[in-house]
Amino acid sequence: MPTPADAVVRSAAEAPGAGLAALYQERILDHYRRPRHKGALDRATGVHAVKNPLCGDDVTVSVLERDGVVVEARFTGVGCSIMQATASMLMDAVHGKSREEIEALVHHFDAMLAGGAADESLGALGALAGVAGFPARHKCAKLPWAALKGAIGSG
Ligand code: ZN
Repeated sequence: MPTPADAVVRSAAEAPGAGLAALYQERILDHYRRPRHKGALDRATGVHAVKNPLCGDDVTVSVLERDGVVVEARFTGVGCSIMQATASMLMDAVHGKSREEIEALVHHFDAMLAGGAADESLGALGALAGVAGFPARHKCAKLPWAALKGAIGSG
């Protein structure tokens, strides 16, 4: 069933520069339909859950940190395609990263949502650049980051 966020992805694909937007749409829907790193993490050093009641997003991130580096990160939860795709891409992105490197990623992601260009370090997360044009969905895209920050902070 189409969700409002799917409509956001679709309308982004119809905007100017539609070729690139369509590619981004494909990547987002791919992560939504086949999420990476989804599931519980047995030996987690930190776990944090956050919700966005506005669209029913509910995500929990578990991390395993060793020597200040995230060696494994997984998520569980339900929600719109933007939230689920962001969580999937984010779990991929933080593997092997230190807290400082993750802070830098947060900064780059926020700058992208504010309308800036996607920093190279964001990798697949750059596909979410189109969300910048939909302020109502910013919270969806930021929710997994909030859960991740909580999980690291609780470790
Ligand atoms: Zn959402």
